[in-house]
Amino acid sequence: MTNYNIKRNLITGAAGFLGSHLVDRLMNAGEEVICIDNYCTGRKINLSQWINHPRFELIRHDVTEPIRVEVDRIWHLACPASPIHYQLNPIKTAKTSFLGTYNMLGLARRLKAKLLLASTSEVYGDPEVHPQPENYRGCVDPTGIRGCYDEGKRIAETLCFDYKRMHDTQIAVIRIFNTYGPRMLPGDGRVISNFIVQALNGNGLTIYGDGKQTRSFCFVDDLIEGMIRVMNHTYSGPINIGSPKELTILALAKLIREKINPGLKLIHKPLPKDDPKQRRPNINLAYEKLDWEPKIPLEEGIGTTIEWFKESIF
Ligand code: NAD
Ligand code: UDP
Repeated sequence: MTNYNIKRNLITGAAGFLGSHLVDRLMNAGEEVICIDNYCTGRKINLSQWINHPRFELIRHDVTEPIRVEVDRIWHLACPASPIHYQLNPIKTAKTSFLGTYNMLGLARRLKAKLLLASTSEVYGDPEVHPQPENYRGCVDPTGIRGCYDEGKRIAETLCFDYKRMHDTQIAVIRIFNTYGPRMLPGDGRVISNFIVQALNGNGLTIYGDGKQTRSFCFVDDLIEGMIRVMNHTYSGPINIGSPKELTILALAKLIREKINPGLKLIHKPLPKDDPKQRRPNINLAYEKLDWEPKIPLEEGIGTTIEWFKESIF
């Protein structure tokens, strides 16, 4: 029987890295959670602890098709996130971003539910402004190999704000910067999972280019806390959620190597095309509006992630 005091959530992309952590948070808070996923990069095992729970439902569904469910809040995360995965079938990636967001916004409008879109720092492309504030409009190559993802997320943001303007749909857009933690896929090519898996296997760490490009890495628990605060706030965004602690990829490799096996080699490989040279969020807005900033230091988060990889893949 429906309990109208409990929040009903729909999470798209729930079997993925971030989605499954969000499921854990909402389930542990006593809420109802309906998950949808097509398993293109997600894994059922990420949700196995909740299967058969009375407040939990899992549906195999592709967000490019409409779906009808009754919920109060929609957390729209469905989209492959790692460059290797979103470039495998770039046309499908663009379809997922456009049609998926369009379908979810249609659902939100009909239900008068609130939709939160998991957008990305990639909307800033290879940025000329550093660090990136939300009002920076970005430098994206629409014809490049990252375009399917970057432009897909940009049009998804546009759709959200047009639904808000035209239909008064409640929306929130967060721009997620590089996030890491347990449940990253070992083979998805993202830098932290790559380095940890390479080091645990006793292999050299692959540095693309000279390794001077920078990123800022946020531990998943901090990210999920930010995401929840945005959903609970009236501000529609867009709002950056990420770590302002920037480091070079070379420094990251040395940090991970030091923790696992200091004797490993660093192997230089060509830099992928359109790889952004630097990235760091300006998180003043998140701090002012949500009183949010990341709490977990990189050293600690990397340690937790290494332990998880040790247990799960060896
Ligand atoms: P992920 O690949 O682990 O998860 C994405 C999930 O969406 C997977 O479970 C996948 O199977 C599912 N999915 C993909 N296409 C789908 C479709 N058409 N229909 C239904 N399900 C589909 O990625 P993640 O790191 O968990 O990212 C989640 C969201 O956050 C994505 O929208 C991504 O763009 C965004 N994001 C993530 C990061 C990050 O660092 N992890 C950074 C910026 C933005
Ligand atoms: N990278 C690297 N070695 C790897 C994987 C990635 O040097 O084995 C680099 C990559 O070129 C990029 C950075 O690490 O400059 C972050 O890559 P990731 O794919 O994790 O995220 P994104 O480029 O989308 O920020």
